[in-house]
Amino acid sequence: KSHLTELLLKEAHERTLHGGPQLMLNYLRSKFWIVRAKRLIKHYVRKCIRCIRFSARSQNPFMGQLPSVRTMVNRAFYQSGVDYAGPVNLRVSKGRGQRSYKGYICLFICMSTRAIHLEAVSSLTTEGFLAAFKRFVSRRGHCADLWSDNGTNFIGASRELKSLYAQERSSMTTEIAAELANNGTNWHFISPHSPHFGGLWESGVKSTKHHLRRVISNSTLTYEEMATVLTQIKACLNSRPISQITENAEDPMPLTPGHFLIMAPLLLPPDINYEKSS
Ligand SMILES: [Zn+2]
Repeated sequence: KSHLTELLLKEAHERTLHGGPQLMLNYLRSKFWIVRAKRLIKHYVRKCIRCIRFSARSQNPFMGQLPSVRTMVNRAFYQSGVDYAGPVNLRVSKGRGQRSYKGYICLFICMSTRAIHLEAVSSLTTEGFLAAFKRFVSRRGHCADLWSDNGTNFIGASRELKSLYAQERSSMTTEIAAELANNGTNWHFISPHSPHFGGLWESGVKSTKHHLRRVISNSTLTYEEMATVLTQIKACLNSRPISQITENAEDPMPLTPGHFLIMAPLLLPPDINYEKSS
């Protein structure tokens, strides 16, 4: 293995915010063809100290048939799922000894393309959620159907989030539902017993945490820094291949959720055809 390969792997791993082998391979393939890349990448990730520290064995879930909304042909985010992750500590402003408070991550996931949209939320209230929702639809367009776990489970799996939500629940659910209806969005609850449904955004939450933990470690960010990191993580998640990465250099690049958003993966430099442009 050459020193150059090592440097390329290092760059790819850092650019993808400690991305996994698939994401790294897709990133590298846009510019380079490395012989036996898959093996070298796996080897590299296995040596990364941060990845070792945060990786945990996971079990493979049982997969059922996909519900129909997952296979409909629609614009990205036309039908989305939503969930919260966190809490994450946020600082009022930069500098030592600054007061910190709890913030949350609001995760929207497209039901058909698996594209992800992340918003930093500073409080677990109706206003907090509706503000995040407004930013989401303003950036990604009208959302016709929004799915979430049913009331009690709307707020992720964390116990802290659940108990907080229980205090707010009485007014929160009805207020949010009313506001969404005004926007022409139907809010659907799904039962927590449909694993292949909820599993979609559970994996989104898991992937978000994957990058977040490795990038920020123990540091406390301001809201602005968190919003920036989340946008970068979003770009990484939306650059993950959703179709097969082939072994043939002539084949087109694999499809990523980014292709449905900006017609290209979000992490890669623009693909300029120099012959035509000159
Ligand atoms: Zn790593």
